[in-house]
Amino acid sequence: MKRPAAAPACPCGSGRAYADCCGPLHVGAAAADAAALMRSRYCAYALGLVDYLLATWHPTTRPLDLDLADGLKWLGLSVLRHEQTGPDSAVVEFVARYKSGGRAGRISEVSRFVREGGRWYYVDGDVG
Ligand SMILES: [Zn+2]
Repeated sequence: MKRPAAAPACPCGSGRAYADCCGPLHVGAAAADAAALMRSRYCAYALGLVDYLLATWHPTTRPLDLDLADGLKWLGLSVLRHEQTGPDSAVVEFVARYKSGGRAGRISEVSRFVREGGRWYYVDGDVG
């Protein structure tokens, strides 16, 4: 390896360093758009950042608590579609791949997001 000090790649698979991608969002920066929030939430699942997941969940649909599955390893995210559906609403379609107990799986969902007070929130989604 020629670059031993290279910054770790972001788990969301953007190809950017974590510090230049989802990292700032996880410590309070506002997501530029719903797709960026979606990536940062996937990344939070991968890193086990429950507080971030709850904080970016819209209050009307947010669960009281969130249990992240043990032994589930997230392998990658593909954002298939990002569509602004109004001035403060958007949908993001994605596929997330994971491995659990030696078996590979995938989740595909069309997620709804709204923007309030300049920040995007996850509302809910239709699992495909
Ligand atoms: Zn990222």
